[in-house]
Amino acid sequence: MSLNIPESGYTDHHTHPSSRCRILTECDARAASTWDEARELIAAHIAANPNRDLYVVHGWNQSTWGTPAAADLDALTKKEIIVINVSYHGAVTRKGIVTEKDYEELAIATLPRYDDLLVAIPKYHAYLSSLGVVAAHDMHLATMDQVDAYRELDRRGELAIDTTAFVNPCLLDDPRFLAVIASEAKQSPSSHFRLAGLKLFLDGAIGVRTAFVSEPYLDTHDHGMLRHSKDECVALIRKSLALGLAVPAIHAIGDAAVSTVLDVYEELKAQGHDTRGWRIEHCEMVRPSDIPRIAALGAVPVMQPNFHWDLDHYGDRLGENLRLINPFRPLIDAGIKILFGSDGMPEGPKVGIEYAMSRARFPEQAIALEEALTAYGITGLD
Ligand SMILES: [Zn+2]
Repeated sequence: MSLNIPESGYTDHHTHPSSRCRILTECDARAASTWDEARELIAAHIAANPNRDLYVVHGWNQSTWGTPAAADLDALTKKEIIVINVSYHGAVTRKGIVTEKDYEELAIATLPRYDDLLVAIPKYHAYLSSLGVVAAHDMHLATMDQVDAYRELDRRGELAIDTTAFVNPCLLDDPRFLAVIASEAKQSPSSHFRLAGLKLFLDGAIGVRTAFVSEPYLDTHDHGMLRHSKDECVALIRKSLALGLAVPAIHAIGDAAVSTVLDVYEELKAQGHDTRGWRIEHCEMVRPSDIPRIAALGAVPVMQPNFHWDLDHYGDRLGENLRLINPFRPLIDAGIKILFGSDGMPEGPKVGIEYAMSRARFPEQAIALEEALTAYGITGLD
Protein backbone atom coordinates (compact mmCIF):
# COMPACT_ATOMS: atom_id res chain seq x y z
CA MET A 1 0.00 0.00 0.00
CA SER A 2 1.55 3.30 -1.02
CA LEU A 3 -0.88 5.41 0.96
CA ASN A 4 0.13 8.68 2.45
CA ILE A 5 -1.02 8.19 6.02
CA PRO A 6 -0.08 11.14 8.24
CA GLU A 7 2.14 10.40 11.24
CA SER A 8 0.27 12.66 13.61
CA GLY A 9 -2.65 15.05 14.07
CA TYR A 10 -5.35 12.53 14.93
CA THR A 11 -8.30 12.90 17.26
CA ASP A 12 -9.33 9.68 19.00
CA HIS A 13 -13.03 10.37 19.43
CA HIS A 14 -13.63 7.50 21.84
CA THR A 15 -11.04 6.34 24.30
CA HIS A 16 -10.49 6.16 28.05
CA PRO A 17 -7.11 7.59 29.13
CA SER A 18 -8.10 8.33 32.74
CA SER A 19 -9.33 4.80 33.36
CA ARG A 20 -7.25 2.61 31.01
CA CYS A 21 -4.09 4.24 32.38
CA ARG A 22 -4.52 1.75 35.22
CA ILE A 23 -3.10 -0.89 32.90
CA LEU A 24 0.34 0.73 33.26
CA THR A 25 0.62 -0.60 36.81
CA GLU A 26 -1.70 -3.61 36.62
CA CYS A 27 -1.29 -6.93 34.81
CA ASP A 28 -1.50 -6.53 31.04
CA ALA A 29 -2.34 -10.01 29.70
CA ARG A 30 -3.97 -8.85 26.47
CA ALA A 31 -1.32 -10.62 24.40
CA ALA A 32 -2.23 -14.03 25.85
CA SER A 33 -4.13 -16.20 23.40
CA THR A 34 -4.87 -19.01 25.87
CA TRP A 35 -5.53 -19.23 29.61
CA ASP A 36 -2.18 -21.04 30.01
CA GLU A 37 -0.37 -18.06 28.52
CA ALA A 38 -2.41 -15.67 30.63
CA ARG A 39 -1.64 -17.66 33.79
CA GLU A 40 2.09 -17.29 33.17
CA LEU A 41 1.79 -13.53 32.69
CA ILE A 42 -0.35 -13.18 35.81
CA ALA A 43 2.02 -15.31 37.90
CA ALA A 44 4.98 -13.19 36.76
CA HIS A 45 3.07 -9.98 37.60
CA ILE A 46 2.19 -11.26 41.08
CA ALA A 47 5.79 -12.34 41.69
CA ALA A 48 7.00 -8.87 40.68
CA ASN A 49 4.41 -7.11 42.88
CA PRO A 50 4.16 -9.32 45.96
CA ASN A 51 2.77 -6.70 48.36
CA ARG A 52 -0.49 -5.80 46.70
CA ASP A 53 -3.87 -6.52 48.29
CA LEU A 54 -5.60 -6.60 44.92
CA TYR A 55 -4.47 -7.87 41.54
CA VAL A 56 -6.23 -6.62 38.41
CA VAL A 57 -5.67 -8.43 35.12
CA HIS A 58 -6.56 -7.01 31.70
CA GLY A 59 -7.30 -9.06 28.58
CA TRP A 60 -9.70 -11.90 29.35
CA ASN A 61 -11.21 -13.07 26.06
CA GLN A 62 -13.86 -15.72 26.65
CA SER A 63 -13.54 -16.95 23.07
CA THR A 64 -9.88 -17.88 23.48
CA TRP A 65 -9.19 -18.22 27.22
CA GLY A 66 -12.46 -19.82 28.26
CA THR A 67 -13.62 -18.68 31.70
CA PRO A 68 -11.13 -19.00 34.58
CA ALA A 69 -12.68 -20.83 37.55
CA ALA A 70 -12.30 -19.83 41.20
CA ALA A 71 -9.80 -22.68 41.62
CA ASP A 72 -7.69 -21.26 38.77
CA LEU A 73 -7.58 -17.90 40.56
CA ASP A 74 -6.88 -19.55 43.93
CA ALA A 75 -3.90 -21.32 42.40
CA LEU A 76 -2.45 -17.91 41.47
CA THR A 77 -3.09 -15.95 44.64
CA LYS A 78 -5.08 -15.99 47.86
CA LYS A 79 -5.58 -12.22 47.59
CA GLU A 80 -8.34 -10.43 45.79
CA ILE A 81 -8.11 -10.74 41.99
CA ILE A 82 -10.20 -9.28 39.18
CA VAL A 83 -9.77 -10.49 35.59
CA ILE A 84 -11.25 -7.86 33.28
CA ASN A 85 -12.78 -8.81 29.94
CA VAL A 86 -11.30 -7.27 26.76
CA SER A 87 -14.65 -5.55 26.22
CA TYR A 88 -14.39 -3.72 29.58
CA HIS A 89 -18.00 -4.76 30.14
CA GLY A 90 -17.37 -7.69 32.43
CA ALA A 91 -14.87 -9.46 34.65
CA VAL A 92 -14.22 -12.72 36.46
CA THR A 93 -13.73 -12.74 40.20
CA ARG A 94 -13.73 -15.66 42.64
CA LYS A 95 -17.48 -15.23 42.93
CA GLY A 96 -17.97 -15.76 39.16
CA ILE A 97 -18.67 -13.49 36.20
CA VAL A 98 -19.86 -9.93 36.78
CA THR A 99 -21.13 -7.81 33.90
CA GLU A 100 -22.46 -4.33 33.16
CA LYS A 101 -23.74 -2.44 36.27
CA ASP A 102 -21.97 -4.78 38.72
CA TYR A 103 -18.79 -4.70 36.64
CA GLU A 104 -18.99 -0.92 36.32
CA GLU A 105 -19.22 -0.51 40.11
CA LEU A 106 -16.24 -2.82 40.61
CA ALA A 107 -14.20 -0.99 37.97
CA ILE A 108 -15.00 2.44 39.41
CA ALA A 109 -14.26 1.32 42.98
CA THR A 110 -10.79 0.13 41.95
CA LEU A 111 -9.83 3.07 39.68
CA PRO A 112 -6.52 4.80 40.43
CA ARG A 113 -6.85 7.67 42.94
CA TYR A 114 -6.03 11.33 42.36
CA ASP A 115 -2.30 11.17 43.19
CA ASP A 116 -1.77 8.09 41.03
CA LEU A 117 -3.72 9.65 38.15
CA LEU A 118 -1.44 12.70 38.19
CA VAL A 119 1.37 10.30 37.26
CA ALA A 120 -0.51 7.75 35.15
CA ILE A 121 -2.45 10.09 32.85
CA PRO A 122 0.67 11.87 31.50
CA LYS A 123 2.34 8.49 30.95
CA TYR A 124 -0.67 7.23 29.06
CA HIS A 125 -0.80 10.47 27.08
CA ALA A 126 2.85 10.01 26.08
CA TYR A 127 1.86 6.60 24.72
CA LEU A 128 -1.06 8.10 22.77
CA SER A 129 1.21 10.85 21.41
CA SER A 130 3.61 8.21 20.15
CA LEU A 131 0.71 6.84 18.07
CA GLY A 132 -0.01 10.22 16.47
CA VAL A 133 -2.94 11.20 18.69
CA VAL A 134 -3.13 14.92 19.57
CA ALA A 135 -6.67 15.05 20.99
CA ALA A 136 -8.80 12.49 22.80
CA HIS A 137 -12.37 12.17 23.93
CA ASP A 138 -12.31 10.47 27.33
CA MET A 139 -15.63 8.67 27.33
CA HIS A 140 -16.18 7.81 30.94
CA LEU A 141 -15.27 9.99 33.88
CA ALA A 142 -16.99 8.50 36.91
CA THR A 143 -15.02 9.89 39.86
CA MET A 144 -14.12 13.36 41.06
CA ASP A 145 -10.52 12.11 41.24
CA GLN A 146 -10.56 11.80 37.43
CA VAL A 147 -12.12 15.26 36.98
CA ASP A 148 -9.77 16.87 39.49
CA ALA A 149 -6.64 15.16 38.11
CA TYR A 150 -7.40 16.35 34.58
CA ARG A 151 -8.02 19.89 35.81
CA GLU A 152 -4.85 19.94 37.86
CA LEU A 153 -2.75 18.62 34.95
CA ASP A 154 -4.32 21.23 32.70
CA ARG A 155 -3.56 23.96 35.24
CA ARG A 156 0.07 22.82 35.35
CA GLY A 157 0.29 22.79 31.54
CA GLU A 158 0.94 19.04 31.62
CA LEU A 159 -1.89 17.78 29.42
CA ALA A 160 -0.09 16.62 26.30
CA ILE A 161 -3.37 15.48 24.74
CA ASP A 162 -6.24 17.93 24.35
CA THR A 163 -9.07 16.30 26.30
CA THR A 164 -12.83 16.41 25.87
CA ALA A 165 -14.62 14.49 28.62
CA PHE A 166 -17.98 12.77 29.04
CA VAL A 167 -19.28 11.84 32.47
CA ASN A 168 -21.17 9.08 34.22
CA PRO A 169 -24.62 10.17 35.52
CA CYS A 170 -23.46 9.49 39.10
CA LEU A 171 -21.51 12.78 38.96
CA LEU A 172 -24.62 14.83 38.19
CA ASP A 173 -25.68 14.63 41.84
CA ASP A 174 -22.26 15.45 43.27
CA PRO A 175 -22.06 19.05 44.57
CA ARG A 176 -18.31 19.10 43.89
CA PHE A 177 -18.99 18.30 40.23
CA LEU A 178 -21.68 20.97 40.00
CA ALA A 179 -19.16 23.48 41.35
CA VAL A 180 -16.69 22.44 38.64
CA ILE A 181 -19.29 22.90 35.92
CA ALA A 182 -20.11 26.36 37.25
CA SER A 183 -16.44 27.33 37.12
CA GLU A 184 -15.91 25.82 33.66
CA ALA A 185 -17.98 28.57 32.09
CA LYS A 186 -15.20 30.95 33.11
CA GLN A 187 -12.28 28.81 32.03
CA SER A 188 -9.55 30.24 29.87
CA PRO A 189 -9.66 29.60 26.12
CA SER A 190 -6.17 28.10 26.34
CA SER A 191 -7.51 25.24 28.46
CA HIS A 192 -6.86 21.72 27.18
CA PHE A 193 -9.63 20.10 29.20
CA ARG A 194 -13.37 20.47 28.86
CA LEU A 195 -16.48 18.66 30.08
CA ALA A 196 -18.68 18.07 27.05
CA GLY A 197 -21.56 15.84 27.99
CA LEU A 198 -23.23 12.92 29.66
CA LYS A 199 -22.22 9.33 28.87
CA LEU A 200 -24.81 6.59 29.20
CA PHE A 201 -24.29 2.89 28.71
CA LEU A 202 -27.50 1.72 27.09
CA ASP A 203 -26.35 -1.86 26.45
CA GLY A 204 -23.19 -3.94 26.76
CA ALA A 205 -20.87 -5.77 24.39
CA ILE A 206 -21.13 -8.62 21.90
CA GLY A 207 -18.19 -10.42 23.53
CA VAL A 208 -20.06 -10.96 26.80
CA ARG A 209 -23.44 -11.17 24.99
CA THR A 210 -24.88 -8.14 26.72
CA ALA A 211 -25.26 -6.06 23.54
CA PHE A 212 -29.04 -5.61 23.02
CA VAL A 213 -29.97 -7.31 19.74
CA SER A 214 -33.31 -7.60 17.96
CA GLU A 215 -32.79 -11.24 16.99
CA PRO A 216 -31.58 -13.52 19.80
CA TYR A 217 -27.99 -14.70 20.01
CA LEU A 218 -27.81 -18.01 18.16
CA ASP A 219 -26.04 -19.78 20.99
CA THR A 220 -27.69 -18.39 24.14
CA HIS A 221 -31.10 -17.53 22.63
CA ASP A 222 -31.46 -14.29 24.51
CA HIS A 223 -31.37 -10.66 23.41
CA GLY A 224 -28.73 -9.19 25.71
CA MET A 225 -29.80 -6.29 27.87
CA LEU A 226 -30.89 -2.68 28.03
CA ARG A 227 -29.47 -0.93 31.06
CA HIS A 228 -31.83 2.05 30.99
CA SER A 229 -35.40 2.47 29.80
CA LYS A 230 -36.15 5.06 27.17
CA ASP A 231 -37.77 7.28 29.82
CA GLU A 232 -34.73 7.05 32.09
CA CYS A 233 -32.46 8.11 29.22
CA VAL A 234 -34.70 11.04 28.35
CA ALA A 235 -34.77 12.21 31.98
CA LEU A 236 -30.99 11.88 32.48
CA ILE A 237 -30.21 13.70 29.25
CA ARG A 238 -32.60 16.53 30.11
CA LYS A 239 -30.91 16.84 33.49
CA SER A 240 -27.43 16.98 31.92
CA LEU A 241 -28.48 19.50 29.28
CA ALA A 242 -29.92 21.75 31.98
CA LEU A 243 -26.52 21.68 33.70
CA GLY A 244 -24.81 22.84 30.51
CA LEU A 245 -23.44 19.45 29.42
CA ALA A 246 -24.37 20.02 25.80
CA VAL A 247 -23.57 16.78 23.99
CA PRO A 248 -25.19 13.50 25.06
CA ALA A 249 -23.22 10.36 24.19
CA ILE A 250 -25.01 7.02 24.43
CA HIS A 251 -23.21 3.70 24.16
CA ALA A 252 -25.13 1.36 21.82
CA ILE A 253 -23.64 -1.78 20.29
CA GLY A 254 -26.57 -4.05 19.41
CA ASP A 255 -29.01 -3.06 16.67
CA ALA A 256 -31.93 -2.88 19.11
CA ALA A 257 -29.89 -0.58 21.37
CA VAL A 258 -29.11 1.70 18.42
CA SER A 259 -32.85 1.81 17.60
CA THR A 260 -33.58 2.70 21.23
CA VAL A 261 -31.07 5.59 21.17
CA LEU A 262 -32.90 6.90 18.13
CA ASP A 263 -36.24 6.59 19.99
CA VAL A 264 -34.71 8.63 22.85
CA TYR A 265 -33.26 11.32 20.59
CA GLU A 266 -36.47 11.55 18.55
CA GLU A 267 -38.44 12.05 21.75
CA LEU A 268 -36.10 14.85 22.84
CA LYS A 269 -36.21 16.43 19.39
CA ALA A 270 -40.01 16.40 19.59
CA GLN A 271 -39.64 18.25 22.92
CA GLY A 272 -37.75 21.01 21.08
CA HIS A 273 -34.09 20.03 21.60
CA ASP A 274 -31.59 20.39 18.77
CA THR A 275 -30.19 16.87 18.37
CA ARG A 276 -27.55 17.72 15.77
CA GLY A 277 -24.14 16.47 16.92
CA TRP A 278 -25.57 14.19 19.60
CA ARG A 279 -23.51 11.04 19.71
CA ILE A 280 -24.13 7.31 19.38
CA GLU A 281 -21.03 5.60 20.81
CA HIS A 282 -19.98 2.55 18.77
CA CYS A 283 -23.26 2.41 16.83
CA GLU A 284 -21.91 -0.98 15.93
CA MET A 285 -24.86 -2.98 14.55
CA VAL A 286 -27.12 -0.78 12.44
CA ARG A 287 -30.30 -1.91 10.74
CA PRO A 288 -30.58 -0.31 7.28
CA SER A 289 -33.98 1.15 8.24
CA ASP A 290 -32.33 3.14 11.06
CA ILE A 291 -29.88 4.96 8.77
CA PRO A 292 -32.40 7.60 7.58
CA ARG A 293 -33.44 8.14 11.22
CA ILE A 294 -29.81 8.92 12.20
CA ALA A 295 -29.59 11.32 9.25
CA ALA A 296 -32.83 13.10 10.17
CA LEU A 297 -31.64 13.67 13.75
CA GLY A 298 -28.20 14.87 12.67
CA ALA A 299 -26.82 12.38 15.21
CA VAL A 300 -23.19 11.32 14.98
CA PRO A 301 -22.11 7.66 15.16
CA VAL A 302 -18.72 7.41 16.89
CA MET A 303 -17.42 4.11 15.54
CA GLN A 304 -14.48 1.71 15.90
CA PRO A 305 -13.17 0.15 12.67
CA ASN A 306 -10.51 -1.57 14.81
CA PHE A 307 -13.27 -3.71 16.36
CA HIS A 308 -13.14 -5.81 13.18
CA TRP A 309 -10.35 -7.88 14.74
CA ASP A 310 -12.96 -9.62 16.88
CA LEU A 311 -15.48 -10.31 14.08
CA ASP A 312 -14.19 -13.84 13.62
CA HIS A 313 -15.52 -14.68 17.08
CA TYR A 314 -19.03 -13.36 16.45
CA GLY A 315 -20.34 -15.61 13.68
CA ASP A 316 -21.41 -18.28 16.20
CA ARG A 317 -23.68 -15.85 18.00
CA LEU A 318 -24.80 -13.35 15.34
CA GLY A 319 -25.01 -15.48 12.19
CA GLU A 320 -26.15 -13.43 9.20
CA ASN A 321 -26.52 -10.31 11.34
CA LEU A 322 -22.72 -10.07 11.44
CA ARG A 323 -23.28 -8.05 8.32
CA LEU A 324 -24.99 -5.25 10.26
CA ILE A 325 -21.67 -4.38 11.91
CA ASN A 326 -19.98 -1.07 11.05
CA PRO A 327 -21.78 -0.04 7.84
CA PHE A 328 -19.52 2.98 7.26
CA ARG A 329 -20.25 3.20 3.53
CA PRO A 330 -24.07 3.45 3.67
CA LEU A 331 -23.88 5.84 6.64
CA ILE A 332 -21.56 8.22 4.78
CA ASP A 333 -23.61 7.85 1.62
CA ALA A 334 -26.70 8.93 3.59
CA GLY A 335 -24.90 12.20 4.41
CA ILE A 336 -24.17 11.21 8.00
CA LYS A 337 -21.00 12.47 9.66
CA ILE A 338 -19.24 9.55 11.33
CA LEU A 339 -16.34 9.83 13.75
CA PHE A 340 -13.75 7.19 14.58
CA GLY A 341 -12.23 6.32 17.92
CA SER A 342 -10.21 3.36 19.12
CA ASP A 343 -11.92 2.60 22.45
CA GLY A 344 -8.35 1.61 23.32
CA MET A 345 -8.79 -1.79 21.65
CA PRO A 346 -6.05 -1.25 20.65
CA GLU A 347 -5.17 2.44 20.92
CA GLY A 348 -4.08 4.35 17.84
CA PRO A 349 -5.72 5.51 14.60
CA LYS A 350 -3.51 3.71 12.12
CA VAL A 351 -4.85 0.26 12.89
CA GLY A 352 -8.38 1.65 12.49
CA ILE A 353 -7.54 3.18 9.12
CA GLU A 354 -6.17 -0.14 7.98
CA TYR A 355 -9.35 -1.98 8.99
CA ALA A 356 -11.58 0.68 7.40
CA MET A 357 -9.79 0.30 4.08
CA SER A 358 -7.97 -2.88 3.28
CA ARG A 359 -9.23 -5.24 5.98
CA ALA A 360 -12.97 -4.63 5.69
CA ARG A 361 -14.94 -7.86 5.93
CA PHE A 362 -17.95 -6.63 3.95
CA PRO A 363 -18.16 -4.02 1.18
CA GLU A 364 -20.30 -1.84 3.51
CA GLN A 365 -17.26 -1.51 5.78
CA ALA A 366 -14.80 -0.24 3.17
CA ILE A 367 -14.21 3.48 2.77
CA ALA A 368 -11.57 5.70 1.20
CA LEU A 369 -8.48 6.99 3.01
CA GLU A 370 -9.70 10.57 2.98
CA GLU A 371 -12.99 9.49 4.58
CA ALA A 372 -11.17 7.52 7.28
CA LEU A 373 -8.85 10.46 8.00
CA THR A 374 -11.81 12.83 8.22
CA ALA A 375 -13.42 10.47 10.77
CA TYR A 376 -10.20 10.76 12.82
CA GLY A 377 -10.33 14.54 12.71
CA ILE A 378 -7.82 15.14 9.92
CA THR A 379 -9.23 17.36 7.20
CA GLY A 380 -7.98 19.72 4.53
CA LEU A 381 -5.46 17.34 2.97
CA ASP A 382 -4.50 17.95 -0.61
ZN1 LIG B 1 -15.58 2.93 25.47
